[in-house]
Amino acid sequence: MTQRIGILGGTFDPVHNGHLAIARAALDQGKLDRVLFVVAARPPHKQDADMAAAEDRYRMVELAVADEPRMLPSRVEMAREGLSYTSETLEALQTEYPGAEFFLVFGLDTLVDVPSWHRAEFVLANAHILTIPRPGDYKLDPVLDGHYTMLTFEPMAVSSTRVRETARRKEPLNGMVPDAVASHIHEQGIYGDH
Ligand code: ATP
Repeated sequence: MTQRIGILGGTFDPVHNGHLAIARAALDQGKLDRVLFVVAARPPHKQDADMAAAEDRYRMVELAVADEPRMLPSRVEMAREGLSYTSETLEALQTEYPGAEFFLVFGLDTLVDVPSWHRAEFVLANAHILTIPRPGDYKLDPVLDGHYTMLTFEPMAVSSTRVRETARRKEPLNGMVPDAVASHIHEQGIYGDH
């Protein structure tokens, strides 16, 4: 049987319950076998910026999905320095998972940009898109017709930005991130404790 693999890309700085809910919606509604959390590398020019190191972000994803057998962290973009094109990520994953069928998971706000992506044609020919609805009016290029499916998803107010702000205030992160991630952030002082 062909493996159906979802790709959820992000900086995951840090991973939060919204990401897990998106992955769950994609797995269930897209009938996927697994979802890869593809952790973005830190762009070289952001080396001193206020962004957790890729290894820390990866570790938090590992902790977040430890009890979720269908969710897996992926280093495919970390192996390359800087920003990765989605087409390159897809090519690398096609090599890693020969014969698999790929599904990109992202919001409607990102879907509108896809036609202008580097090698958009390759991306659309090699992956189907599972789209998370977003409030607002979006005009979709007809080139996208047949290449995406809109998921049902209840909006969640959580974002990585909010988690970082809460951690900096040393307030509890329960309910925003899995408990193991909350403990790790506090123990390691990942956001603002040093
Ligand atoms: P930040 O607050 O730092 O911008 P983020 O919470 O959006 O981060 P990312 O790692 O940038 O997290 O997101 C990865 C993917 O998850 C993106 O496609 C983003 O749109 C989506 N996403 C994150 N939070 C939500 C949410 N609450 N509802 C729907 N989609 C979300």
